[in-house]
Amino acid sequence: MLVAKFGGTSLATATRFRQAAAILTADSNRRICVCSAPGKRFPQDRKITDLLIDLAYSQDEEKSLLLRQEIEAHFQEITEELGIRQADMLHGQRISERLKAEEKDLSVDRYDGLIALGEVFSASVMAAYLCKLGYRAKFVGAGQAGILVHKIGDHYHMHEDSLNRVRDQLWPLLEGYDLLVIPGFYGRDFEGKRRPLSRGGSDVTAAWLSAALQADCEIWTDVSGVFVTDPRVHPAAQPLPYLSYGQMLEMAEQGASVLHPEAVWPLQAQELKLYVKNSFHPEDKGSVVGPNLHP
Ligand code: ASP
Repeated sequence: MLVAKFGGTSLATATRFRQAAAILTADSNRRICVCSAPGKRFPQDRKITDLLIDLAYSQDEEKSLLLRQEIEAHFQEITEELGIRQADMLHGQRISERLKAEEKDLSVDRYDGLIALGEVFSASVMAAYLCKLGYRAKFVGAGQAGILVHKIGDHYHMHEDSLNRVRDQLWPLLEGYDLLVIPGFYGRDFEGKRRPLSRGGSDVTAAWLSAALQADCEIWTDVSGVFVTDPRVHPAAQPLPYLSYGQMLEMAEQGASVLHPEAVWPLQAQELKLYVKNSFHPEDKGSVVGPNLHP
């Protein structure tokens, strides 16, 4: 089984959603899809998560209204082009209404409640689109998927009970569906409140789901694997075909933006493979992270 995670650039537009769905459905081993929030469509664009952070901090209703409209417009562009009715996702609630309800509801934890909603919307769109294509797909919120988080220092991290909980929640669902679509980047705390992981945390969600289900993990991004130098800056750079977990961790900790460092150890602990692949060029080999330095 494979857990396939799509990053923000791989879900920024309807075209990217279509491509991600084509990748997902090309191999029936891909049973779990983890979605990030849509990223930038063009260089001056703003990531949905950044807009949500602004909204969470906004004290000014006029500014909040504009932010809600901007977030909704980005998703509307995607859903309209994919031919999905907003009524078919989020229990029929409009995105701006959901944002407004969430802002009111979580006055104390407004920031935590809001900032991972981009992932919730993304995963809802993906699930609705896969259903439209005729697949048995289901949106499963991170809480329903069994992801439990707790605070260590200033940040929320995965709680180890998540492994058993995810197994218990997802195995029965996997019997009834081809694909489960799960938002990345957050979990529920012991009180049941939505709490975000640190930035880039959808990788961590994917790694823990993989560990819980004994599945290999795919990270679909906008570069063809792990590079020693940034291929967007040095176009002649070549990806590393194979890395050990230790090498991957070292590179992630040194700022290789391709993977969140906390995504390495759950996979390493179970010797599960991690594939870093380019959703813009799925035919490229990408990089494999695994237990042996020279397979
Ligand atoms: N959307 C979140 C971020 O921008 C989380 C993620 O993409 O993994 O950090």
